[in-house]
Amino acid sequence: MDLAGNYYRVKETIPPHVKLVAVSKFKPLEMIRELREKTGHQIFGENRAREFSAKASAFSEGVEWHFIGHLQTNKVKLVVPFASLVHSVDSPRLLAELDKEAAKAGNVVPVLLQFYIAREETKFGFDFREAGQMLESEQFRNFKHIRVSGVMGMASFVEDPVQVRREFSSLRNIFEKLKADYFAGDDAFREISMGMSGDYRIAIDEGSTMVRIGSLIFGER
Ligand SMILES: *Cc1c(COP(=O)(O)O)cnc(C)c1O
Repeated sequence: MDLAGNYYRVKETIPPHVKLVAVSKFKPLEMIRELREKTGHQIFGENRAREFSAKASAFSEGVEWHFIGHLQTNKVKLVVPFASLVHSVDSPRLLAELDKEAAKAGNVVPVLLQFYIAREETKFGFDFREAGQMLESEQFRNFKHIRVSGVMGMASFVEDPVQVRREFSSLRNIFEKLKADYFAGDDAFREISMGMSGDYRIAIDEGSTMVRIGSLIFGER
């Protein structure tokens, strides 16, 4: 398999202002090292806490590790020491736990708030009202060890590009409203993480600043 070739075929379709997270879940460390060596790529994404911490502790030089999956509060400890960005904060409880563990570790963890934009019922995430309540809370103002850097979402797994576009557009609107209401003048709040192998071009059209791509680079899982 031509890993570097796959990578460059994807990379050339992504504008320079959009960051590419290479999603390496279920793939061996050797493939990650190979991609790093052949292309210089630095940002990798994982969605399970144990796999994330095992890979990140084994290979960290010149690499940014992003956590992109549902995170249980009892696994936050595994993730905090290595995470350059946690894309998938889906509850106030999780955010509180991240703040607590980051405080213990003496660092500040950048996070994105995950929003529920899809039709499927299994997806995790805030809705706009819940997020607003949290951002207005006293508890939120006291968090000193997390930094909210934007939003993340996943579109429905459907063939219908109109539906997918509508969902990405709704995330973009959520980002703009949060920016205006809660993060005006905060330059750190700037990322919209949306788009995967099957839908990233639509996501970029709709304002994505970060795409998370696995199978187009590493092959099917
Ligand atoms: C697996 C995964 C991806 C990448 O999926 P592909 O379709 O392989 O590109 C992106 N985001 C999340 C949250 C994932 O779990």
